[in-house]
Amino acid sequence: MAKDYYEILGVPRTATVAEIKKAYRKLARKYHPDLNPGDKSAETKFKEIQEAYSVLSDPKKRAQYDQFGFVGDFPPRADAGQGAGPGGTGPFSGGFEGFDFSEYGGSSFKDFFENLFTNQRAGQAVSPQRGEDLNYSMTISFADAIYGLQTKIKVNRLMPCSQCGGGGYISSGGQQLCPDCGGSGQSYMQRGFMKFTTTCPTCHGTGRLRGQVCPSCRGEGRVLGSETITVRIPKGVDSGSKVRVPGKGNAGINGGPAGDLYINLVVTDHPFFQREGANIHVRVPVTVPEATLGAKIEVPTVYGEKKIIRIPPGTKSGQKFRIKGEGAPVIGRNNRGDMYVEVYIVPPSSVDQGVRELMKELEKYYEFNPRANLGS
Ligand SMILES: [Zn+2]
Ligand SMILES: [Zn+2]
Repeated sequence: MAKDYYEILGVPRTATVAEIKKAYRKLARKYHPDLNPGDKSAETKFKEIQEAYSVLSDPKKRAQYDQFGFVGDFPPRADAGQGAGPGGTGPFSGGFEGFDFSEYGGSSFKDFFENLFTNQRAGQAVSPQRGEDLNYSMTISFADAIYGLQTKIKVNRLMPCSQCGGGGYISSGGQQLCPDCGGSGQSYMQRGFMKFTTTCPTCHGTGRLRGQVCPSCRGEGRVLGSETITVRIPKGVDSGSKVRVPGKGNAGINGGPAGDLYINLVVTDHPFFQREGANIHVRVPVTVPEATLGAKIEVPTVYGEKKIIRIPPGTKSGQKFRIKGEGAPVIGRNNRGDMYVEVYIVPPSSVDQGVRELMKELEKYYEFNPRANLGS
């Protein structure tokens, strides 16, 4: 049978978080093993109190417990543990095997209650943490990728909380117990039957708060906000390029630097130009006489200009001609890739009697089998 966590803490099922914390602190003080040396029943009781508190102080776990009567995986393993109540098969019985009091802020009663009540560590500087990097996806036109672009984007990011100046607390004289860990400086996580303790993120393990927790950021010192940022996309970017905007990721914690914003670019296709790195490919149709006799043909560049290229007599479909320096800009360098012009031969658009006779005449000049290499 699952344990009744409310009964263990001696609170009604309707108890508020504050009432649960109060009951927990009172009982933890009474049953701590250091105050009851060698008393196995006190130790068991202390474990139960910690267990009950870890569930009931967590709104998600409490809701699950209220609904299902236990927290964790289902069904519980029959051999999950022993010695935690009759039969030892309660859903939590495995979680406290190898229970180590050092998880609770130190191995001794003194350490435990220093964290819990006297708070010698509060006010100690907590280590600054860099804010997280953020990713932003942006689609730009083919031309913008060639020319570069300056634009404004709206980004949702964690910014320093203006209400508390990023410190997370509003000074109100004196210090108070951290409401999230009840002063233990630890928070608890459950993964199946495994139980982990981590440093309480609200008080950073100090168990106390310097003043009142800022209601706006709940002590984190940063709040989600929306910021319009001017970004400069350099010329020559391509799909898959990442542009870093320094310091525009999430704000740091405890005075740490902000993370960076990464703009992941997608470049839309062009109707006839294709990118291959800094090189540009374009396919250009030529007529049968142009290909046969050779010609000067005009080809467009990605810079909106026209270039004349000379194709030699006897040019075949698929032949490529390079125009040096007419490719896309190479990012961060003052040069460009090349443009490759691939020609393909198109027939006349209509075939009348005149064309038919001309082509019959032309046929005579094919003194070779054009498919000779195909084994026919
Ligand atoms: Zn805390
Ligand atoms: Zn704040």
